[in-house]
Amino acid sequence: MAESTTAPVPSDHIMGVYARAPLAFERGEGSRLYTADGEAYLDCMAGIAVTALGHNHPKLVQAVKDQADKLWHTSNIFRIPNQEKLAKLLTENTFADVCFFTNSGTEAIECAIKTARKYHWAKGNPEKIDIIGFEGSFHGRTLAAVNASGNASYLEGFGPPMPGFVHLPYGDHEALKAAIGPTTAAIIIEPVQGEGGARSLPVSCLRGLRELCDEHGILLIYDEIQCGLGRTGKLFAYEWADGAGEPDIMAVAKALGGGFPVGACLATAEAARGMTPGSHGSTYGGNPLAMAVGVASVEELVKPELLEHVREVAGYFSQQLSGLKDRFPDVVEDIRGKGLLIGVKLKTPNREFMQLARDQHLLIAGGGDNCVRLLPPLTLSLDEAREAIERLERACGVAQARSRAAVPA
Ligand SMILES: *Cc1c(COP(=O)(O)O)cnc(C)c1O
Repeated sequence: MAESTTAPVPSDHIMGVYARAPLAFERGEGSRLYTADGEAYLDCMAGIAVTALGHNHPKLVQAVKDQADKLWHTSNIFRIPNQEKLAKLLTENTFADVCFFTNSGTEAIECAIKTARKYHWAKGNPEKIDIIGFEGSFHGRTLAAVNASGNASYLEGFGPPMPGFVHLPYGDHEALKAAIGPTTAAIIIEPVQGEGGARSLPVSCLRGLRELCDEHGILLIYDEIQCGLGRTGKLFAYEWADGAGEPDIMAVAKALGGGFPVGACLATAEAARGMTPGSHGSTYGGNPLAMAVGVASVEELVKPELLEHVREVAGYFSQQLSGLKDRFPDVVEDIRGKGLLIGVKLKTPNREFMQLARDQHLLIAGGGDNCVRLLPPLTLSLDEAREAIERLERACGVAQARSRAAVPA
């Protein structure tokens, strides 16, 4: 008998690091996912902001098929034409001059941290190693990335915190100014927090961070792994500061491969001055198969009409969600985020609410600070957005009835 993939208790043979929903999908099309029995779900999490162009996008599928027939992997000891093409696309559309390709977001963060330290080392300041991060931030799961992240629980049991990482309260400007010293190398921040609860950094802060870094000769690292590549309605979230909040280094991933594992660390030539032959590497990073998908994906994501569509759908969500907040005061506390990185802070438990949404065949992501996140494909239509709101409304109705029943009058 075939093993069930929808059983409440998942496989014993998978390391138990995830609390999985008892649900598996067989195929996807645009904003829909289908189970093996053909049940359709509206996907408003897009594999945590990864399938930004929707499932089964014809151009991405074609890119994988064409490349799969030709060549999968060589090595970074050879030139890889599509790697050069993707680097050109990314640098022409950003502050950056150079890219290093990875297989994940956390590796892009590793490269960013190493690049920042090596920059100061190359300038004769090897003592500058401290990376200043913020509480509630998430930068990935390698040891350096969890040390950079502002969530102490992710470090629990994994040995002592590494030297060279400093954490500050989010939004405390005075603490930040006071923390910068002779050993500071860089500041790392998500322009819009993802896992931490979809908090969006005001544009004035993006500008302020740039000025502060210039003043002290330290580097500004943006983690746009989740908020980048069109999610906020600009190609990158830092663009909302109109050229005044550009970073020196930026980590990108998630939407970059649309579901194929691709990440990148972008940097100015100056910031990358220490990254010379032998200083860093990756076996798989930037291989022909990954780069074929990356090129196809970014060619779609840079289209101005897609970014305009994101802003339109985001405007609709923002208006409708504040309506839900008014109608369900026992459930919805606050609406946050930017563009289609939307956080709904709840008064009822977020894990329970995700299940209520699944009962309505709507998929949403969890988040810190008791949020749920809506991270739909950027291609979500206005009709699908309307449908998402209707399903959310029904989930809110159930949550509100439950919370009222639980509270004695
Ligand atoms: C997902 C994410 C990461 C980690 O990316 P992985 O591909 O899971 O390694 C890092 N930073 C942010 C902001 C993310 O959303």
